[in-house]
Amino acid sequence: MPAPGELIMVEPKRPKPPKHWSDWTVEERKAQVVELGLPGFRADQFSRQWYQRLNNDTNSWTDVPADMREAVKDLLFPELMTSVRELKCDNGATVKQVWKLFDGVLVESVLMRYTDRVTMCISSQAGCGMNCPFCATGQGGLTRNLSTAEIVEQVLAGARSLAKGEIDGGIGRVNNLVFMGMGEPMANYNSVIGAIRRLTEPAPAGFGMSARGITVSTVGLVPRMRQLAEEGIPVTLAVSLHAPDDELRDTLVPINTRFKVQEVLDAAWYYADKTGRRISIEYAMIKDINDQAWRADLLGEKLAGNLVHVNLIPLNPTPGSKWTASRPEDEDEFVRRLKSHGVPVTVRDTRGRDIDGACGQLAAATKN
Ligand code: SAH
Repeated sequence: MPAPGELIMVEPKRPKPPKHWSDWTVEERKAQVVELGLPGFRADQFSRQWYQRLNNDTNSWTDVPADMREAVKDLLFPELMTSVRELKCDNGATVKQVWKLFDGVLVESVLMRYTDRVTMCISSQAGCGMNCPFCATGQGGLTRNLSTAEIVEQVLAGARSLAKGEIDGGIGRVNNLVFMGMGEPMANYNSVIGAIRRLTEPAPAGFGMSARGITVSTVGLVPRMRQLAEEGIPVTLAVSLHAPDDELRDTLVPINTRFKVQEVLDAAWYYADKTGRRISIEYAMIKDINDQAWRADLLGEKLAGNLVHVNLIPLNPTPGSKWTASRPEDEDEFVRRLKSHGVPVTVRDTRGRDIDGACGQLAAATKN
């Protein structure tokens, strides 16, 4: 018998996406290139085209003999996703992409441009098995895990658009990445770690972004949080807590019946200890559900003295939801109480609301 909670982590059986350059390590790429009959040093050239020049038109790669270009595309760089919809809001500063994967499955990514940086919010799974009742993605269940390359491609697609100046605000680059789109990244651990490695590896192997600019957000899969602490990649870990007490958290984040608040926090402090990185605690403010002053005090007591920052997210009500965002005065009091415990706190802005691109709303628009 599987333990409770085990069942929902089992991925439904589905065909796997085609293997792609971003799925492979440097050695594997070289082997693939040699197998095609090309010299091994081409591998570095291909990587430079893909991750540095951001040129995904393999036909234009002059370092590939013309008669090989078709094979290089089909076998090493197959198309993994096509854009089915692009939605803009916030005067073009927020762009949501809906992607169709090889098997027709839809996932979404969001690009947010601020005055001094660009943040991308990406998906790690199609759907999600965690079943949090306030989250749109959670309502549809898990369709499948994304491959490493499918995760990397969401970022590169954004990077290409920015490099070409297609995003309002001129030419730019991706500075920050948050695994806060669809899915539970720690339930697709290997693909997510693979993607983080490809994205942080310096040229020519990878995209060369800083691990410090990457945030992995989790419901609190304790064994995976501890495993992440051992990887030696200093990403920021965000924990979707949403309640300081087990009674309420059992209902808001059902995996809490398996991994309790204190276990999750212990794993978070372990992560902070190992990496020196400040833990981000995510807390969706839900009116009269988790926003009481006493819960702010309890949260403050549990977090005080640790390397931590609280991110309060005004709830984005999902269609048909009986819940709504907290009253401003309750939110203010919550903030005040956390601060009185010496816990740093900010209230997150809610980009992308009018394109269903805000937190937890990604699935709403993919149902059409
Ligand atoms: N599965 C991961 C990452 C995806 S969700 C996780 O749960 O952390 C990213 C963040 O958005 C999480 O903190 C999640 O709890 C929050 N979220 C989901 N639905 C929301 C909603 N309707 N309003 C506000 N935040 C929401």
